[in-house]
Amino acid sequence: MSFAALARLRTQLDGLAEQDLLRQRRLLDGAQGVRVSLDGLALLSFCSNDYLGLARHPGLAAAVSQALPQMGVGAGASHLVTGHHAEHHAFEQEFARFVGLPAALLFTSGYMANLAVVMALVGRSGEVFADRLNHASLNDAAILSRAKFSRYAHQDLAALERLLQNSRAAEKMVAVDAVFSMDGDLADLPRILALCEAYDAWLLVDDAHGFGVLGSQGRGTLAHFGLASPRIVYMATLGKAAGVSGAAVAAQSEVIAWLLQKARTYIYTTASPPILSAALRASLGLIAAGDERRDQLRALIAQLRQGLQAQGWPVADSATPIQPVIIGENAATLAVSANLLAQGVLVPAIRPPTVPRHGARLRISLSAAHTAADVTQLLAALGAHRA
Ligand SMILES: *Cc1c(COP(=O)(O)O)cnc(C)c1O
Repeated sequence: MSFAALARLRTQLDGLAEQDLLRQRRLLDGAQGVRVSLDGLALLSFCSNDYLGLARHPGLAAAVSQALPQMGVGAGASHLVTGHHAEHHAFEQEFARFVGLPAALLFTSGYMANLAVVMALVGRSGEVFADRLNHASLNDAAILSRAKFSRYAHQDLAALERLLQNSRAAEKMVAVDAVFSMDGDLADLPRILALCEAYDAWLLVDDAHGFGVLGSQGRGTLAHFGLASPRIVYMATLGKAAGVSGAAVAAQSEVIAWLLQKARTYIYTTASPPILSAALRASLGLIAAGDERRDQLRALIAQLRQGLQAQGWPVADSATPIQPVIIGENAATLAVSANLLAQGVLVPAIRPPTVPRHGARLRISLSAAHTAADVTQLLAALGAHRA
């Protein structure tokens, strides 16, 4: 007997392929970095989130090798059973101090952290307000919380205010990417916080792309704007600029104490290997001392934007290492990406549903590990495509 559900999957996969929407993985060999071996090809890569070039930094590797003989690899249990290692604990305290908030909790990923915060602080009687271009994990978090889920057009704070005004929810939360991951623009956090104060809402700031990059010493987007409020729940992922893995949530002590009681993605999962916390503690030091890396990044961003403009590409409104070039259609975007690949330069084509329909784009992401010559090579390859 044929199994109809399986046959349907085959048809749907074929459909994705026809629309140029089939996602595929490439095999990375060796370490992540700006020069990678991918599917056996040596490529100049503009597609990691390793903004400071820390993922393969010897300081992080050294921290792991020093910690390994003492701690072993696996945490062996969840944090609330026996998996909460002194190394996790020390990282949480150092992270909280670094971002200027009273307490912090370490999660295994940003996805888990976002689910935790929204589900623990907003329930069935609540409402979550979200920018349409927020990361998928924030959307999933709102859906899982069973709260009313109200989305507003990208950066349309007048629309956000109308939604807040009309809300009769018991608990309200505005959840927002601080730096939008496919566009690179910054949320207007000062105005959003003012709205949260006016309408008595929590503010969840997802700083996946700002932590380590923005603010004095890379303390993140709150530091960049000079913002503080007991309403803020700050989430930074640790697999991007920090170069490791995981995520940390920092907030008032009561919020962290509540997450410890209620956050299902914290309670019902194995703690991350403590050696990763050893790496994270080393990473915090490198981030704090990383002004040269951040200066290098700023110079590369300026060089790239100037070069793109000179060649007539649409340049996005982004001052961050995320520099999208919006092409529009899937096939055209894939064609540019394939042409660059043939020239040894890796820039991913990002397609729906990750971005809106007709919003397919090249997503160039820069790292402090790039050189000016690398950006020149990218621009030459883009120029060759245009010619
Ligand atoms: C990457 C990302 C996440 C998820 O973080 P992980 O640690 O990779 O799970 C959450 N939010 C945003 C905006 C991201 O870019």
